[in-house]
Amino acid sequence: MSIKDVNTMKIAPKVWHNGKFIEWKDARVHVMTHAIHYGSSVFEGVRAYKTERGTAIFRLTEHIKRLLNSAKVYRMDVKTTLDEFCQASVELVKDSGMEECYLRPIIFRGLNEDKPAFGVNPFPNPIECYIASWDWGKYLGEEALEKGVEVCISSWTRITSNSLPAVAKAGANYMNSQLIKMEALLNGFSEGIALDDRGYVSEGSGENLFLVNNGRLLTPPLGASILPGITRDSVIKIAKELSIEVEETNIQRAALYLTDELFFTGTAAEITPISKVDHIQVGTGKRGEITKKLQDEFFAIIHGTRPAPENAPWLTYVSETEKKTASSSSGN
Ligand code: PMP
Repeated sequence: MSIKDVNTMKIAPKVWHNGKFIEWKDARVHVMTHAIHYGSSVFEGVRAYKTERGTAIFRLTEHIKRLLNSAKVYRMDVKTTLDEFCQASVELVKDSGMEECYLRPIIFRGLNEDKPAFGVNPFPNPIECYIASWDWGKYLGEEALEKGVEVCISSWTRITSNSLPAVAKAGANYMNSQLIKMEALLNGFSEGIALDDRGYVSEGSGENLFLVNNGRLLTPPLGASILPGITRDSVIKIAKELSIEVEETNIQRAALYLTDELFFTGTAAEITPISKVDHIQVGTGKRGEITKKLQDEFFAIIHGTRPAPENAPWLTYVSETEKKTASSSSGN
């Protein structure tokens, strides 16, 4: 099967659906699908990278665990297991032939066409599981990893844990993210950073945030209004290994203007420096030393040229993964 090439974007020719691989063109839903009307989906974003041992998926098990946790929050009775999702992800990447790609596992409330239910109550609707994949370049632009991006503080408040829990990566959360992103883009910024309902710094529309202050890392704590990012967790573990102190703490808006270095983390954004906030230059306005050091270690790990901290199995090598053992056969 050849990779689809749509307007220069490479897309895996197959999509995985409820245990089976189907053709890209057949991965369609009805307009009365519950998720389209009421936002009832949970999803993941995962990256696979080229390494000397072939393509490897980064922290696949952790992503699928977070996916299943998101589904649990929304009382979705998912029949597909962690191992099945992992195995399907591996097979999808293998089949696509892409050396590097982005994976999008998604679980949503669908439509039973024999017994339709159109109300808000999600329970009558079937649970649908899909995984699609495509080749996604640098999310915030090729140059962003070195030059950094210019961002603003959003006028929109981040969702709160008692309305839409940020701990679950739900489709509905991304309406808030879209407000943040659109406002930023229309005002000439690459990204927006939202404050939480208490006025403390939360996160970007699709990224967690780190400050570098006098050689220490500061980042908003888990629990309040941020997604527990897997890249965030990776950076914390790499920093600890490098003996860089990390403090998870409440951060005021003005601290972003005054910090030495500032960067985003995320599967799509990887580690992207921030050069200006609200037109105010951060530090020297260039990628800082500690940001660069963390990027170097992170990229070495994702490309398999050095082991993860504590030799953790962060890479699932696609060609070395046997059937039915996807989550247990990963390793560096
Ligand atoms: N926050 C939000 C709102 C996101 O969408 C993402 C991207 N998944 C992140 C943070 C970063 O999370 P991760 O590092 O797991 O991709």
